[in-house]
Amino acid sequence: MRCRKCGVKAAINLPEHRLALCKAHLLDWIPEQTERFIQKYDMFTHEDRILVAVSGGKDSLALWDVLWRLGYNADGLYINLGIDGGVEYSARSLRCARQFADARSLNLMVSDIPAERGVTIPELAMRSVRGKERPCAVCGIVKRHIMNQMTTESGYTVIATGHNLDDEAAVLFGNTLVWDGEQIVRQSPVLPAKPGMARKVKPFCRFYERETAAYTLMRGIEYEYDECPHALGNRTNEIKTQLNQMEANKPGVKLTFYLSFLQAKENGLFQPQSTTAVDLHPCPTCGQPSVHEGNCTFCRLFENK
Ligand code: SF4
Ligand code: ZN
Repeated sequence: MRCRKCGVKAAINLPEHRLALCKAHLLDWIPEQTERFIQKYDMFTHEDRILVAVSGGKDSLALWDVLWRLGYNADGLYINLGIDGGVEYSARSLRCARQFADARSLNLMVSDIPAERGVTIPELAMRSVRGKERPCAVCGIVKRHIMNQMTTESGYTVIATGHNLDDEAAVLFGNTLVWDGEQIVRQSPVLPAKPGMARKVKPFCRFYERETAAYTLMRGIEYEYDECPHALGNRTNEIKTQLNQMEANKPGVKLTFYLSFLQAKENGLFQPQSTTAVDLHPCPTCGQPSVHEGNCTFCRLFENK
């Protein structure tokens, strides 16, 4: 197998694109494609101040690296969730994020939930009103809130996350299985800004996980190899396993599924379910917009700690 661009021995085969690339050309191809997606979906420009949500894992660090190489004005945000799981998951992830930022003289902001709130995400899940909230549900609320807060209050114009095609296809498939119309309509490479709500973008949404993984390895980026201990058995991961089986039988099926969805959306197949916009109220405690009167979901989480 030879690199399509230069003919030397290929380092990676990308059957879904009918493409094979050597290391040097993969390291060019990922930023070129990312730039193409940024422009195609009108994500941001070089005038924007971008905040990249970094978990210490491969996708978010690869995204930050690519945006840095493309000359975008991008800082990082790490949210310490206080997850240990016997492997010091959060501490190790933070070390990877710090090491990455320091090596490139990039600015990494850290929001430390245990230090600032006196409770970790697993503890918060245990103490939730029902006492049986999965850590992922609590974690999602906390991460979304902090990302929005740090973006809007620190002068950034957009928040970028490292979601890849495997993530997007799994979420879409999961929502389709139960016809969750609200979530299906909402899924997009770009969520536009609203008053008090930052613009959210996913520049890696068309890359397979193995493509971003290969990029991270070939760039020599040190990342946290272990998955979060709470990821085991979560629904999205189960769906990913099933989609991987389909992909093994038919390379490209995930990409076709996701791109066909985006095309159908563009063609007007999916319409918002309600014409009345949801009223947002400022949370009296944190000031962030909330669908509830009174404290927002994030602030409510901490009321009973
Ligand atoms: Fe949070 Fe769950 Fe992801 Fe762990 S797997 S980081 S708990 S959402
Ligand atoms: Zn609040």
